[in-house]
Amino acid sequence: MIRCDELVDDLFPHLSELLVERVFVKCGTVHVVARTRDAEVACPGCAVVSNRVHSTYGRRLADAPVGDRPVLIELTVRRLYCKNVRCPRRTFTEQVEGLTVRYGRRTPAARRVLEAVAVALGGRAGIRLAAVLHTRVSRTTLERVVMALPDPDWTVPKVLGVDDFATRRGQHYGTKPHLDKRWAEGHTNAIHLHAELQELGYRGSDQTISDYLRPRRRRRIRVAAPAPPGVRQVTGWMTRNPEHLSDDERRKLTSVLAHCPELTAPMSTSAHSLRSPQHAPAGTSKTESPPCAPRMCPDSAHSPLAWRRTGTPSSRA
Ligand SMILES: [Zn+2]
Repeated sequence: MIRCDELVDDLFPHLSELLVERVFVKCGTVHVVARTRDAEVACPGCAVVSNRVHSTYGRRLADAPVGDRPVLIELTVRRLYCKNVRCPRRTFTEQVEGLTVRYGRRTPAARRVLEAVAVALGGRAGIRLAAVLHTRVSRTTLERVVMALPDPDWTVPKVLGVDDFATRRGQHYGTKPHLDKRWAEGHTNAIHLHAELQELGYRGSDQTISDYLRPRRRRRIRVAAPAPPGVRQVTGWMTRNPEHLSDDERRKLTSVLAHCPELTAPMSTSAHSLRSPQHAPAGTSKTESPPCAPRMCPDSAHSPLAWRRTGTPSSRA
């Protein structure tokens, strides 16, 4: 034998925190009239508890059907004063945990039913199924329910194809790193690169390779080419005391002179004259450029401009 109050607790476990005053059936709908208990409630703004009542008002919540009948909960809730004088909220409305949310007009149980219908069917088919479940909704309500759902968790794929690559976190898989490497080496022909990738197992079309490389062609990306030194930089290295150059500057200057040996002789003369102005030849000022700056070099391949075109120092020097 089961007692009636135990049966009510089993059928309406979400109402256990309420004082149920009356239950009746009207026009085929089960009405549950209830109110909250006179307990202290924490303010949502400052968490200070209060039981000082400002006013009460009624809320109507649609619940999951029982006995093939829709259920409507007529709930009386309290608006309370916040006791914290520093809290920006002067009053607040109590919420029943597991039953009400701010502005909500359905219980969590009823909302779960609606979410399942909206995800499975949505639209007009969802409206028809919801009507069978004693829930009257519109198409836009079903859309709102679906949009309010959180995004599903990402799953880790077990198998990756050769073309799969993750732009997230900058990670790349498959054959795309090979493209980056070959592009950095100066190989930009999509047909040739496509043939190389096919030997590595790639099964896509050459158009895919061309599409992948197109942004690089537009931006003229040089993945591995260092920026060439400017004329002003090289002139500075040549005219400064070598002892004052850093290791990096000395290495770069050595590289410049190796590719353009015509600069070696005037560099030593110019540097000496600048370090010892009193010994400078007549008519030579401190700000004069050396006789052979990179821009003036007779071989245009030695100029920094030529480097910028090729991405590496010219091999003709
Ligand atoms: Zn407060």
